[in-house]
Amino acid sequence: MLFLIPFIILALYIGMYLLRTERTSDCRWRQSGKDAQGVAWRCQVCGATALTEKGLPKHCGAKSEE
Ligand SMILES: [Zn+2]
Repeated sequence: MLFLIPFIILALYIGMYLLRTERTSDCRWRQSGKDAQGVAWRCQVCGATALTEKGLPKHCGAKSEE
């Protein structure tokens, strides 16, 4: 049963990621620039910035707490 431990850890990480995504779903991304690297975004709610190849960022990188 030892082989199950990595899967349990992985499941915990996925759960934490999903919770975090849900928590930051209020973010409003606004395009702030575009270059060869991709599209730059800025969150209107918390002020976070992100860079994606295309499309909106999936979640906000900033901390909600101060
Ligand atoms: Zn945000």
